Amino acid sequence: MQVEFHRHSLQEQDIENVCKVLRSLFLTTGPVTATFEKRFCEYTGLKHTIGLNSCTAALHLALLALGVGPGDEVVTTPMTFIASVTAILHTGATPVFVDVEPQTGLLDVSRISQALTPATKAVLPVHLYGAMADMRALRAVADAHTLGIVEDCAHCIEAQRDGVRPGQLGDAACYSFYATKNLTCGEGGALSCNDPAVANAVTVLRLHGMSKDAISRYSGKYKHWDMIAEGWKYNLNDIHSALLVDQIERLDAQLARRNEICAQYDAAFSGCPDIELPAVPGKSARHLYTIWVDPARRDDILHSLHDKGVGVAVNYRAIHTLQFFRETMGHAPEDFPNALRIGQRTVTLPLYPGLRDEEAAYVSRCVLEAVGERG
Ligand SMILES: *Cc1c(COP(=O)(O)O)cnc(C)c1O
Repeated sequence: MQVEFHRHSLQEQDIENVCKVLRSLFLTTGPVTATFEKRFCEYTGLKHTIGLNSCTAALHLALLALGVGPGDEVVTTPMTFIASVTAILHTGATPVFVDVEPQTGLLDVSRISQALTPATKAVLPVHLYGAMADMRALRAVADAHTLGIVEDCAHCIEAQRDGVRPGQLGDAACYSFYATKNLTCGEGGALSCNDPAVANAVTVLRLHGMSKDAISRYSGKYKHWDMIAEGWKYNLNDIHSALLVDQIERLDAQLARRNEICAQYDAAFSGCPDIELPAVPGKSARHLYTIWVDPARRDDILHSLHDKGVGVAVNYRAIHTLQFFRETMGHAPEDFPNALRIGQRTVTLPLYPGLRDEEAAYVSRCVLEAVGERG
C-alpha cells in the first residue's frame, strides 16, 4: 500500500470557480478575493480579513502594523516552521526564543516574563499542530507589559480553547493556505484582526504602499493613486481566491473527519510504551498528527515508514539548532531543552480528510512495527 503524506481535498466546484475567473476580465485582487475575505470573516468571527500571498507575508505585515522594527525584540517559540522566525527578521527586529511546554510543544507562557527586556515589543505564539497556545494567559502577560500579540495560525483555523478562538485575543491572526494546510489554494495566506487600524495598514502594505488597489483604479473614471508607505507585493489574487471561496463551508466537516482519523491513531498507539502522544489542549484544528518516539531511533523509524510506503514528515526540528540560527544567534542546543527534545523525537503521520480508514489502519500497523524493530 502507498499512503501519501498529504492529498488535497479540492473538488470540481473549486476547479470550476478558477475557470470562471480565467474566463473573466479580472485576474488579480478583485471581487473573488473580496468574497473570500468576507466569508473568512464569517467563519473566524473576526471583523477584518486581508488576503495575502502567504502566511509569511501575513506575519511580516502584522508585525509592521504593530510598529515592530529594528532594535525591537519579538518573543517566539523555537518549535515551529522557520517562517515564524524569518518574518521577525524581515522587520529588522530580533527574535527571542522561549522554550515550549514539554507535553504540548506550545510556547510556555509561564516562561515569557524571564525573556522580556525594555526592547520587547511583541509575542508571536504558534498554534502548533492545530492546538492553541494558552491565549488567556498570554493576553494577561502581554497586557501587563504592553506587548502586541501576532498569532501564527498556519495550523489553526478551526480551533477553540477556554472559549477563545484564534485571533480573538491577539492583535492579528496569520493564516496559511499553502498546499498541505487545512484550507488551501496551493500558495496563499491571510491576516485577520478586529482592529481597523491594523487592517488598514495591512491593506496598504500588501500592495506596494499604494493608496488604491487595482480594482478601485480600474473601475469608473481614471483615478490617480499615491504611494503613502513603503510596501510589499503580498496581495492574494482572484485565481487563488477562487479555490478558497467554497472550501470554507467544508472546513468543519473536514475537521470532523480528521478527528475520526486522530481517534483511530490514538486508539492504536495509546498502549504502546515506545510512543508518546502530545497533549491536545482544547478543541484542536487537528492539522498535524505527530508522535514522539525514542530520539535514538527516530530517523530509522522515518526510513522504515518510507520503505513501507507511508509518507512521513518532521514538524519540526527545533529552529535554534538549524545552521542559520546557530550561526546568527549562537544558541547551544540545550538552551531550549524541551524544544530540542521534541524536535529529536517527532514523526508526523498522514492526516487529511481523504485518508481512508484502511489506510489509517495500515499506517498504524507500520508505525507499531517500526517502533518495535530493533536494528
Ligand atoms: C506553513 C507555515 C508557515 C508559512 O506559511 P506560508 O503560507 O508558506 O508562508 C508559517 N508557520 C507555520 C507554523 C507553518 O506551518
